[in-house]
Amino acid sequence: MFITFEGPEGAGKTTILKMIAKNLEEKQYEYIQTREPGGIRISEAIRSVILDKAHTEMDARTEALLYAASRRQHLIERVMPALENGTIVLCDRFIDSSLAYQGYARNIGIQEVWDLNQFAIQDCMPTFTLYFDIAPELGLQRIAANANREVNRLDQESISFHKRVYEGYEQVLQMFPNRIYRIDASKSVETVFEECWKIITTHLNE
Ligand code: C5P
Ligand code: MG
Repeated sequence: MFITFEGPEGAGKTTILKMIAKNLEEKQYEYIQTREPGGIRISEAIRSVILDKAHTEMDARTEALLYAASRRQHLIERVMPALENGTIVLCDRFIDSSLAYQGYARNIGIQEVWDLNQFAIQDCMPTFTLYFDIAPELGLQRIAANANREVNRLDQESISFHKRVYEGYEQVLQMFPNRIYRIDASKSVETVFEECWKIITTHLNE
C-alpha cells in the first residue's frame, strides 16, 4: 500500500506522518517512512540542488526535471522494492506536489508536468493520498513559528506564489477525486491524526 501525504507549506504533513508511523509500528505493520524530494542518497543530493537558497536562477522546467529525476530514483531504490514486499510506504509528497508547484504555480502546465512524470513513474501511482488542506496564510504562519524547520529556497517565495500552489492543489483534487482524501488541516493535530487514521484503517481492512 502506497500512501502519499500532500499539501502546502505548514500543513502538518510531516508531523502526522510520524504519528501514523508510530501507530503502524505499535500494531506491528511492516512500513517505511520516506520523503520527496529525497529519501535516498541520490535523491537527497538532488533535493539539495533544488532547494539551495543560492540557486535563485533555477528555471521552472529544470526544477520539474530535477524533481522527476529524484522521484524516479527514489521509486526504483526505495518505494518499489518495499511495495513488492507488501510493506506499507508512507511518503511525504509525491507527484501531486509537482503538478501543483511546477505545473500550476510555476505555470508549466499541469498536463505537461503530468506527461513528464509518466516517464519517471511508469504507472506507479499511490494507492491513496491524504491531502492536508490549509489556507496559505495559516500554513506560512505555522512555519514562521517553527524555529526547527530548515529554511529553503521556496521559503523566499511570496504569499501570492503560495496561493497559487493552493489553487494548483484544488485542480489536482478535481482531477483525482477517487484517489485523494481532503483533510481539514486547520484542526488540532489530534483531530487531523484521527481523521487520517480512520481512512488508513479502512484501507488496511479491505
Ligand atoms: O515538504 P518539504 O517542506 O520537505 O518540501 C521541501 C520544499 O520543496 C518545500 O518548500 C516545497 O514547497 C518544495 N517543493 C516544490 N515542488 C515540489 C515539491 C516540493 O517546490 N514538487
Ligand atoms: Mg514537511
